Amino acid sequence: METTITHQQFLAQATELATRNVLNGGGPFGAVIVTADDQVFEGLNRVTANNDPTAHAEVTAIRAACSATGTFDLTGATLYSSCEPCPMCLASSLWARVAGVYFAADRQDAAAAGFDDAEFYDFFDTPVAERSMPVARLTLGDAGHLAPFTAWAALDSRIEY
Ligand SMILES: [Zn+2]
Repeated sequence: METTITHQQFLAQATELATRNVLNGGGPFGAVIVTADDQVFEGLNRVTANNDPTAHAEVTAIRAACSATGTFDLTGATLYSSCEPCPMCLASSLWARVAGVYFAADRQDAAAAGFDDAEFYDFFDTPVAERSMPVARLTLGDAGHLAPFTAWAALDSRIEY
């Protein structure tokens, strides 16, 4: 099928980027995003290079695509990643309204290489009370916690996303 070949070509491109990135001060991860109108953008892992724990290849690809096309909405785009996206990258893809995600290596491959993707997936499968990092709601009293949403709802110039 022609579509399958195209998917595999972009996936191969993402994986080649990942391998090259290792020799360029980055982690072994690469991504390619193809917008709905067939523009292609690349992303590289730059976590240690930029001291940015969020600079995963998928996120940098999304940022590159959004910056170049002047939008925060990549509806209809397809994301190819050299490795199964971690929960952050998966959520980033959801926020960007990516239509589909394809990956080569999986979270177990990443774990074997020393990366925490599988562990973070486990985090979400662990009951809240037993998680390694506590996340808890604190009370502000009155309706203080709703003030940002009230301000948002009242703003005529808001851009919905
Ligand atoms: Zn990630």
